[in-house]
Amino acid sequence: MHRIGILALLHESNTFVESPTTFERFEQDVVVFGQELLDKFAKSHHELGGFLQGLSGSQIVPIGAYRATPAGAIPEETWERIVEDLIGRTSSAMPLDGLLIAAHGAAVAEHAPDADGDFLSRIRQLVGPDLPIIATLDPHANLSERMVRACNALSAYRTNPHLDQHARGLEAAEILKKTLSGQIRPTMHAEFLPLVINIERQSTDEPHLKRIYEMADNQLKNPKVISNSILLGFPYADVPEMGSAVVAVTDNDPELARSMAKELYDAIWESKDAMQGVLIPIETALDQVELEASQRFCLLDMGDNVGGGSAADGTLIAQSLFNRQIGPSFVCIYDPQSVEQCQGVSVGTNIELRIGGKTDQQHGSTWTCQVNVISHHDGRFTEDRPRHGGISYFDQGPSVVVRATQAPMTILLTSRRMVPFSLNQLTSCGLNPESFRVLVAKGVHAPLAAYREVCQRFLRVNTPGSTCADLFQLEYRHRRKPLFPFEKEF
Ligand SMILES: [Zn+2]
Repeated sequence: MHRIGILALLHESNTFVESPTTFERFEQDVVVFGQELLDKFAKSHHELGGFLQGLSGSQIVPIGAYRATPAGAIPEETWERIVEDLIGRTSSAMPLDGLLIAAHGAAVAEHAPDADGDFLSRIRQLVGPDLPIIATLDPHANLSERMVRACNALSAYRTNPHLDQHARGLEAAEILKKTLSGQIRPTMHAEFLPLVINIERQSTDEPHLKRIYEMADNQLKNPKVISNSILLGFPYADVPEMGSAVVAVTDNDPELARSMAKELYDAIWESKDAMQGVLIPIETALDQVELEASQRFCLLDMGDNVGGGSAADGTLIAQSLFNRQIGPSFVCIYDPQSVEQCQGVSVGTNIELRIGGKTDQQHGSTWTCQVNVISHHDGRFTEDRPRHGGISYFDQGPSVVVRATQAPMTILLTSRRMVPFSLNQLTSCGLNPESFRVLVAKGVHAPLAAYREVCQRFLRVNTPGSTCADLFQLEYRHRRKPLFPFEKEF
């Protein structure tokens, strides 16, 4: 029986965000080892759930998993503490026959911009060149040569919203088992495109990307092609690796891997104009909402995309909805001070709050609003359906629901930044999503997995911020050049 180690280190770091991803932020999300890892992920839709299910018949060694909600770069001290811990635990777990690693691919440490490359190559150094390492990636990875060199095979999710994480985990486990039994010998080739795919264009349900994924699926019909991946990239990490890439893994056929990767590269490059964002201003989006009065809308706040690391306390869409008296509407804003202020106030009381806009100056000003306090909550909820991120347990901290007294608007105030990936975020606070005509979700594509159950129309709104879809508003200093659309000559 083979002895397989399981590791996870998952972070998407936004270098345009000032607030760093400290160790405490990992502790607020996932830091688990051994049995705790199994308890947390065995039944999840996460790739770790896929690893565990796919390894039945092997001896599973759940070494450790770290994950934090996307935010700023990781300080050196935090990164070294985590990586050293995982290296120490892996070393103690040896001898192993193979490793399955859930990485993200867009982690940035302050001293190591290619943090995933740093982590994976240090694990490779520990276990030596012969132990098979199969890793999964998020398609928002900014792939590096070091990540590719450290692993025998890499496989990225093929959907955005990410709904195939469990399937990719199963696939990785299958590749590892076949490698260990001598049935296959994975050979990997990566190609790096001089291209940024705008976040607004990263829905895998839309034709410009669907076409590329169909090509990738077709390649898999060749029995010599084991796996292939399209890394859409994460534009909010100002690092040399930022951009898109493709990977092909074949059974001991480097030339075939090269030609498969090249085919995907060419198809994406030919479509590069279709990969640039459509930018709708707030007021235009609200005109549309007014026009289609019978539809329930989800307004996606692209500049304050919590899953992309932003502040979660942007007020711009909320203030516009308020000013135009459009509703009933719902918005969630991270604001621990306002939550605290409401905690001393009984339900039914009217008070004045200064809401949001406190983390930085990028996402709109602090908004003064008269509200009625509706309810208090502990902020914990669960999700058992497949949703973006494969997350089962959420904790948005003590939270309060308030209603504006002068507009048809309900505001959920949280004391932790929370990604809008589950409608249970609302229902656990006594709110029925279908009682609103407009719901604001601070994301781009990820919220759709949940919100399409209740919304007929989605508008991706071009708001300013640390995840602004207009990439020309961001000041890059470390990206590679040339890179389309910033440079046009190649
Ligand atoms: Zn992603």
